[in-house]
Amino acid sequence: MYPADQRDNWYAGQGRWSDVPASDWNDWHWQLRNRITTLAQLETLLELSPQERAGCLFAAHKLALAITPHFFNLIDPLDPNCPVRRQVIPHIDESVVAPGESADPVGEEGTMPVPGIVHRYPDRVLFLVTDRCASYCRYCTRSRLVSNAQSYDFHPELEQGLQYIAAHPEVRDVLISGGDPLLLSDAKIDALLGRLRAIPHVEFIRMGSRIPVFLPQRITPELAAIFRKHGPIWMSIHTNHPKEITRELAEACERLSLAGVPLGNQSVLLNGINDTPEIMKSLVHRLLMMRVRPYYLYACDLIEGSTHFRAPIQKGIDIIRALRGHTTGYGVPQLTIDGPGGGGKIPINPEYVQAIHDGIVELRNFEDRAYVYPSGKQMPDPTPELRE
Ligand SMILES: *Cc1c(COP(=O)(O)O)cnc(C)c1O
Repeated sequence: MYPADQRDNWYAGQGRWSDVPASDWNDWHWQLRNRITTLAQLETLLELSPQERAGCLFAAHKLALAITPHFFNLIDPLDPNCPVRRQVIPHIDESVVAPGESADPVGEEGTMPVPGIVHRYPDRVLFLVTDRCASYCRYCTRSRLVSNAQSYDFHPELEQGLQYIAAHPEVRDVLISGGDPLLLSDAKIDALLGRLRAIPHVEFIRMGSRIPVFLPQRITPELAAIFRKHGPIWMSIHTNHPKEITRELAEACERLSLAGVPLGNQSVLLNGINDTPEIMKSLVHRLLMMRVRPYYLYACDLIEGSTHFRAPIQKGIDIIRALRGHTTGYGVPQLTIDGPGGGGKIPINPEYVQAIHDGIVELRNFEDRAYVYPSGKQMPDPTPELRE
């Protein structure tokens, strides 16, 4: 169904831009300058459906259109349902707002003490450092504040954010995101990481970025050296489908890994894009081959205009059940729903525990065979010294 997962079969190269000098193609600034951002450009490259054309006109005032040449090459122009195409090419269904959908589906605005800081969990903050991305995912949970297409006036304030973190000793973990933080210059990233490292209570620093996927050229040796200097810096990338695993992405991940950056992956469960066990198994196998540990598989947030992207949660549970035990444990992500309105991440799991009673646990394994585990009843009482 999908080409074998071996690295030799992963996409590589300049595709439609094969006449561009390699020095330009490999320059991340060239990739950004040559992004596809208008309907007119798109129409020279692809035959759009009327729904996509209308979607592009709608996108101009909701969530901008932008696709890097690197990522555009992964689109199959002959397949209107191409899983890469649907992630980045606007569709008029984005204009349909269903009941329950909102501009701030996970209730971030209510937990922003200063612009750019989301402090929802006790010991960690989300630090939004830019409102721009290399390309825009059509199901973006933060479409209200990225791409500058809506009237929302978001100016991340690095100084205020840093001061907030410095003033809150309970913050031991900082997740830098945006927008995409790797769009900042090397000098800014270096300075930001240096400032965070100088705060004694900040133990753990990580970044959430789709740049390795959209713009692997950005992961230069110089950038990797900055991560090494301030390390350990962890990073979560974002892939949804095996087609996104290119040799360029693998090389970018290698530069990061060898600079000491532990890598994770976040996927969003998307209707008709990656909502089958076969596709997700192929994706997680390719991720493991690049030293990337699948971290979360999110249910798609209830962002306005996302109905066409949302898959039944049961499909997510079926995927996890098809992975757990059937393939490498490291390859199984945590299925998660971010509680609408501000509940935070809630893990969703297939049920392996049938019952707990009379000191036993009744279990089913990955093959659906029944097992019983004596749970504590016949354990000796701990000695008085060890009680407490
Ligand atoms: C996802 C998220 C985090 C990080 O959560 P982990 O489970 O530690 O990865 C922190 N803050 C906010 C607001 C988040 O949405």
